[in-house]
Amino acid sequence: MIFICDIMLGRLSRYLRMLGLDAPCAKSPGLPETSEPDKKTPYFFTRRQKGPLYERTVRIRSDRIMEQLAEIKDIIAPYVDPDTVMSRCIECNTPLVATAREDVEHHVPEYIYHHHAEFRQCPSCKRVYWGGSHTEKMKKWIDAINTVHSS
Ligand SMILES: [Zn+2]
Repeated sequence: MIFICDIMLGRLSRYLRMLGLDAPCAKSPGLPETSEPDKKTPYFFTRRQKGPLYERTVRIRSDRIMEQLAEIKDIIAPYVDPDTVMSRCIECNTPLVATAREDVEHHVPEYIYHHHAEFRQCPSCKRVYWGGSHTEKMKKWIDAINTVHSS
């Protein structure tokens, strides 16, 4: 499932990517590509309270990130998979690829290099990711989302 965020929801799109969801940023969901028969219509999250309605437009009321997430929690919960958390580039939505530790030596702080064994890199913007505080915070979220989903 694709969750398109309008350009006023850049922060929300980054949070969705952290959760491993396919969350591109766009002015509008566009048309044809999504009408391929085996592809599901993407959701379109927007802050605009007026304007064109696409098939799966969800109007976001709050401008606070945690409240925005609460608004869409029921929609995204079925698609959040703990195994794919942190599998996408937060900056550009590209799926990350595993990279050899020695290849990132000069791209991460020395402390990070010495304390982590697994690194992943964005093939598009070359950003390097590793496990850490982000992931801990993320796990709490996922627990919260799953709790809501299953109750
Ligand atoms: Zn990237």
